[in-house]
Amino acid sequence: MNKLLYIATFGCQMNDRDSEIMAQLLTKESYFPTDDIDAADAIIVNTCSIRGKAEQKAYSMLGSLRRRKKQNPQLIIAATGCVAQQEGEKMLARMPHVDIVIGPRLIYKLPELFAQASKRDKGFVATEQVSSFVIPPFLPSLDEGLPYKRFVTIMQGCNNYCTYCIVPYTRGREISRKVSDIVSEVEHLVAGGIKEVTLLGQNVNSYGNDQPKDVRTSFASLLRQVAAIDGLNRVRFTTSNPKDLSEELMQCFVDLDKLCTHFHLPVQAGSDAILKRMNRKYTVASYLEKVEKLREYCPEVSLTTDIIVGFPGETEDDFAATMDLMEKVRYHAAFSFKYSSRPPAKSCEFEETVTEEEKGRRLAIFQNRQKEISLERNNEYVGQEMELMIEGKSKVEGQWAGRSKSNHTVNFKSQDTFIPGQLVNVVIEEGCLNSLRAKLLVK
Ligand code: SAM
Ligand code: SF4
Repeated sequence: MNKLLYIATFGCQMNDRDSEIMAQLLTKESYFPTDDIDAADAIIVNTCSIRGKAEQKAYSMLGSLRRRKKQNPQLIIAATGCVAQQEGEKMLARMPHVDIVIGPRLIYKLPELFAQASKRDKGFVATEQVSSFVIPPFLPSLDEGLPYKRFVTIMQGCNNYCTYCIVPYTRGREISRKVSDIVSEVEHLVAGGIKEVTLLGQNVNSYGNDQPKDVRTSFASLLRQVAAIDGLNRVRFTTSNPKDLSEELMQCFVDLDKLCTHFHLPVQAGSDAILKRMNRKYTVASYLEKVEKLREYCPEVSLTTDIIVGFPGETEDDFAATMDLMEKVRYHAAFSFKYSSRPPAKSCEFEETVTEEEKGRRLAIFQNRQKEISLERNNEYVGQEMELMIEGKSKVEGQWAGRSKSNHTVNFKSQDTFIPGQLVNVVIEEGCLNSLRAKLLVK
C-alpha cells in the first residue's frame, strides 16, 4: 500500500539535494512525497546547524511533532542532516518520539531503517563518520513534472576547519565522487530534459584532492567534461574557498560558453587579523588579487559573497576594514551573518568580545550599504541584452521570470506562454534591489 512522506528541509543546497535523494530512495518502501504534513505517514526533518538559530529551528520543528506521534503512533519521524549528526543520542534523549536519527552520510540506509522502524520500540541512532565511505552512484528520478534544472553533489564534507565552522564536524572529511558517476548523472539528467545543473560542494575547488595525485581530476577539468555534454545549456557551481581559486578554473570562463558568469566567493571578513583567526588561509591583498584576475578572465562576472560580523576579537577597525573591502569589490549581492558560536568549532574557545547588540548594529550597517551597492550594480545592466532561462510566471501578474547567466532574477511582461527551461533574449530596462526588469526581444 502506498504511503505519504513529508520532508522539511532546512539549510543549504546540499541538504536540498539530500532531501531529493531520500525521497527517491523511499519510493522503494512505497513512500511518495506530499506537501500536506497532516496527511503524512512519515516525516523527515532534514536539519541544518550552521548557526545557533538554525539548530533551534530544527529542534522546534521536531518538538512540534510530539503531539502528532501521540495521536498516531504509526507515524515514522526521522531527523537527518547536520543537527542529527552532531547531536545523535542527545537528540533522541530530548526528542524520544523521534524514530530515526541519522547523519548525512548514512541517508542511503534510510529504506532499511524505515522498514525496521515500526518493529522497534525505541528510536535508532546512526551517526558514525565512516571515513572510507564511497558515495554511491545515484541517478535522480525525473518523474515529477517538467524539471529543467537540478543540483548535482560532486563531493561531501570539508577539510578546511575554518575556526567558526561546524561543517567539517557534521559532514566529515572531504570525499569526492567519481568523475564517471558525476558525468553519467548529468547525462541522465540531460536525457530527461534538464537544461541546467549546479555542481555542489563545500569547496568545489578542492575537488579531487582526496584522490592519489596520478589519478586525480581537478575541478576545472571536471567542469569541462560536464560542459561537454550535449543538450545541457548551463552549468553553475558553488561554493569556492578563495584560497583554492586557481587560474585553471578562471580559464574555464573564457573557454566554456555554458559556464554561467556568476561566482560566489565568500570572503567572511576584510581584516587580515580576523581572517587569520578564522583560519581562512588568505589575506585581503591575495583575495583582491584573485578578484582582479577573475575579472580579467571574465569581465562580466557577477560576484557575491558571505560575511560574518562580530567574530570574537573583531574591533571597530576590523569591521571598518570589512566595509572597506566591500567598497573595493562592490559585490552584486552578499549573504551576511552575525557570528554564532558552534561547538565543537575551534572559535568557541575564543573569548566573545562583541555583544549581540553590537553584532546587530554592524550587520545593519553592512546590509544597508550592500543594498545600495546591489542597486547600483543592478542598474549597470540597463541597456544590456541578456539571455534568460525561463523559471516560470513572475510573482507580478502578467509577467514572466527568468534567470540570467549572472544569476539575476529578471522579470518581463509578455502575453505569450513560455515553458521553464526555455531560453529567451531580453534587454534590461531597470535594476531593482534583488532583481532586474526587462523587455522581451523578439528575434
Ligand atoms: N564552504 C563555504 C566557504 O568556505 O565559504 C561556506 C559554507 S557555510 C555552509 C555558509 C556560510 O555560513 C559561510 O560562508 C559563513 O559565512 C556562514 N557561517 C558558517 N559558520 C558560521 C558561524 N559560526 N556563524 C555565523 N555564520 C557562519
Ligand atoms: Fe566551513 Fe570553511 Fe569548510 Fe566552508 S571551507 S564549509 S566555511 S570549514
